[in-house]
Amino acid sequence: IRPLAQADPEVDQAIAQELIRQQSTLEMIASENFAPTAVMEAQGSVLTNKYAEGYPGKRYYGGCEHVDVIEQLAIDRLKSLFGAEFANVQPHSGAQANASAMHALITPGDTIMGLNLAHGGHLTHGMRINFSGKLYKVVPYGVREDTHTVDMAEVERLALESKPQLIVAGWSAYARQLDFAEFRRIADLVGAYLMVDMAHFAGLVAAGLHPSPVPHAHIVTSTTHKTLGGPRGGVILTNDADIAKKVNSAVFPGQQGGPLEHVIAAKAVAFKMAAEPEFQERQVRVLEGSKILAQRLLQEDVAAAGISVVSGGTDVHLVLADLRHSVLNGQQAEDTLHRIGITVNRNAVPFDPRPPMVSSGLRIGTPALAARGFGAEEFTEVSDIIATALIAAANSGTKDSGTKDSGAQAGTEAGSEGDVALDDA
Ligand code: PLP
Repeated sequence: IRPLAQADPEVDQAIAQELIRQQSTLEMIASENFAPTAVMEAQGSVLTNKYAEGYPGKRYYGGCEHVDVIEQLAIDRLKSLFGAEFANVQPHSGAQANASAMHALITPGDTIMGLNLAHGGHLTHGMRINFSGKLYKVVPYGVREDTHTVDMAEVERLALESKPQLIVAGWSAYARQLDFAEFRRIADLVGAYLMVDMAHFAGLVAAGLHPSPVPHAHIVTSTTHKTLGGPRGGVILTNDADIAKKVNSAVFPGQQGGPLEHVIAAKAVAFKMAAEPEFQERQVRVLEGSKILAQRLLQEDVAAAGISVVSGGTDVHLVLADLRHSVLNGQQAEDTLHRIGITVNRNAVPFDPRPPMVSSGLRIGTPALAARGFGAEEFTEVSDIIATALIAAANSGTKDSGTKDSGAQAGTEAGSEGDVALDDA
């Protein structure tokens, strides 16, 4: 019963420092958010002590009567939030949810289609050294060079040509909405399953500000910590009873052992809060903020510095600044904003001439600042600060290092493969 400060002052101190960092900087990483205190309270509870392999009412351990109540609450709230028939709340993360969904529907050696990582896709949608790229044959689709939106004609052509068993729709760095009905039409045409990974935009869907994939997809996966604002974790939804059975067995025992009931309790709290009017109002500010930012980055003074916006705007919670025609590269732009206390991540943009570890893009998101109460006025001010800082950095004559070497110190496995960026959370 010693408090953390006594039991482990080093960890305690680092947590205190992280709290100061979170309080004193402007968090604009598109995949981050601030979990409410109630969510963190549930996550930091005695539930971490409990083993509960299995599902509510069907456990392989005794003493599960209370975690059963909690997990059932999480399932019921998630189903009601997204209007789905079945839900699994056990995946430890978004990556685990995707691995389980694929495990449920297809077999190693099958073909999957997913958005090219370099065009905004996620590692788990078919990156070469991710499980998805190792277990399945991957046929990536991309965005059009003129509009930077997913090329549905190409999706159809590739699907007819490669006859995939699964098509994945979803993204980590894309500022527009996908046409889920059209994806389903193409999937049906070739007898493929459609999986939608709504990790990034789930909060907008919950708030009714983004079309829902649930009526269209065979299976929907998500994280719970991005726009949804809950604890770090994953979930899977479906309207199909047979698929639901396969999902349950793919998650446990297929991919995981004991569920994290403390995280599941925190998910239950987050799903309750996401159904409340305050959450909807916050998501309205998330969208308002990203539109204000896109507008600012499209103005003439920014354009004169060679900076623009991928796809010419945004319909979601993030903006992708396009630095392909600027002397400033993604790494320099990220560092510039970091120096003035704004945290973002550099990101490859479609048809990026620079190597992934440097890149020609910045991914800037508004969910975390909206959670801190930012509205139109504050987003206008921060957008102006971002524009001014980027223009100044571009004009300062910073030489674009633009070579593989500039990112090499990161030395990641994927980075050293030279074909992907890792900025894809
Ligand atoms: N799916 C998408 C679209 C993502 O952007 C992410 C983020 O990393 C994931 C899945 C994986 O989530 P996690 O980091 O929880 O594994």
